[in-house]
Amino acid sequence: MNEGEIFMPTQERVMVFAAGEGSIEPTGQYSDDEVMAASDEAQKPIEDSAVVCMDERGSAEGDQPVREKVAGGNLATGTFAAVAVDWLLLTEEVKGRGPQAVIDVVATHLVDTGERLGGHTSNHASGDTTDCGAVDKSGQTTDNIDKYATDEAWIDQAKIDLGDGFRQDHWDKSHAGFSALARNTKWKNWQRSYIQEAIKKHGGIVEVVDATPDIDRDPQNVRHNHWGEAARINHQAGKSNDRDHASIPTFQVDVDALVRTARKMASSEDEFSLLLHAMVMFQYGTTYTLTRNMRIIR
Ligand SMILES: [Zn+2]
Ligand SMILES: [Zn+2]
Repeated sequence: MNEGEIFMPTQERVMVFAAGEGSIEPTGQYSDDEVMAASDEAQKPIEDSAVVCMDERGSAEGDQPVREKVAGGNLATGTFAAVAVDWLLLTEEVKGRGPQAVIDVVATHLVDTGERLGGHTSNHASGDTTDCGAVDKSGQTTDNIDKYATDEAWIDQAKIDLGDGFRQDHWDKSHAGFSALARNTKWKNWQRSYIQEAIKKHGGIVEVVDATPDIDRDPQNVRHNHWGEAARINHQAGKSNDRDHASIPTFQVDVDALVRTARKMASSEDEFSLLLHAMVMFQYGTTYTLTRNMRIIR
């Protein structure tokens, strides 16, 4: 297929990201209309201010309040955007100390500006992994962004999600930053679970999602109990999916949470735009890494 056909509209509000290298793909059990209706129905007012992960798996520790969602949670997305665009508050000294120091600076800044941090682990996590694919596979994500983010198909999506705010120069600058990250061994080999430690240290929420293997449907457990039928990119402020009551599991990225996080990190309009482009790029990169042939709903 040529790259212009990677995002194929099946109807006005649903597209299929007919690419990706992940193990999570729609099961074929539901129609687009069913998936869209379930996702629409799951959109509910935000009940708690922590910004958690786009992960569609349910909570293993009882139903959670409705929280906004971005790839890996706001600390992971904020950290990768900060490094990609060389955020003004990252001094050479902090960057030199490596990922943990960077994560702490981003965490402190977000909390100081009134944000509540969020992320997750699972009931099957072990060792230095988090069982948050966005975090554990961030090395593959930066590789995929390096390779594919300048493809027409990605840019077309960014023009939808950023609207009039899309700037080609800021997309290119974000891409160059992620490409550098893809070649930086410090950002390949860092201790992933530090993200969750930092979230806890700064008073945030670390959800525990249910990764219990479903050996009947997935004998090799390649899915880690991920049964997402779509990824919704939500442009409606003040709402997110009530994940733990959704009838069909669906990933969700809340654009308003990205905009607000970028706004709080930025020292200028230019830096706001750069950070937002990098954040959007990280959402697509994570989706590419974790899923394949995934429906994208807006
Ligand atoms: Zn996650
Ligand atoms: Zn797992």
